Amino acid sequence: MLIAGNWKMNGLTEALKQAEAVADALKAAPAKANCAICPPATLAGHMAAVLGDAVAMGGQNCHADASGAHTGDISAEMWADIGAEYVIVGHSERRESYGETNEQVAAKAAAVIRAGLTPIICIGESLAQRQAGETLDVLGAQLRGSIPAVASTTDIVIAYEPIWAIGSGLTPTLDEIADTHAFLRTVMQDVLGDRAVTTPIQYGGSVKPANASDILALDNVDGALVGGASLKAEDFLGIIRAAV
Ligand code: PEP
Repeated sequence: MLIAGNWKMNGLTEALKQAEAVADALKAAPAKANCAICPPATLAGHMAAVLGDAVAMGGQNCHADASGAHTGDISAEMWADIGAEYVIVGHSERRESYGETNEQVAAKAAAVIRAGLTPIICIGESLAQRQAGETLDVLGAQLRGSIPAVASTTDIVIAYEPIWAIGSGLTPTLDEIADTHAFLRTVMQDVLGDRAVTTPIQYGGSVKPANASDILALDNVDGALVGGASLKAEDFLGIIRAAV
């Protein structure tokens, strides 16, 4: 079980207090789940120090190259160097805002693996795709296209995030989440073979303390990727404690 917080483009130095409160609480009473916070890059150095061993750190994106003339970009090796253990790749906000394709996401995921870290590979359907009955086709294509070949021999995490559920307060029903995750597991068996069984599939999209227990108890739900509710220690801890 992996509960990961995605701070997105949120958090000035002051916000480190929230991360520190999460780490302190988990040092006092360890979580049943593995936990991570993915801060904006500007906070990464401070964040690694604040989190210590209690909570892992992750990046929110990376370039596929290890280094080079890519102004403004950060490589997976740089994330590793500053103490990250995970890097999110293919978040729908990047697929939408920057036109990231499955191929690019797969290349980034391969880069994360090359750097010795674990990619959290995001997939998810839009509302229009869902309403057109295309959800499973879209997710199947995203999974097959975004998982790099090298993943069959190493750890990866998949995050299923319906785009319409992100930041909206809306979530699929529990049955819909369970059905979708079961479908993803089947596709992953094709792509990853035996590793599919042990590859975590997170659910993401408006996870909060109030709905976390029900979602995390579902078959084939192996954690959560949390946006808004990861910014406040109390809310993020509420979700972490719901993982039993
Ligand atoms: C996300 O963007 O990864 C996310 C799940 O956001 P939220 O929890 O705010 O819906």
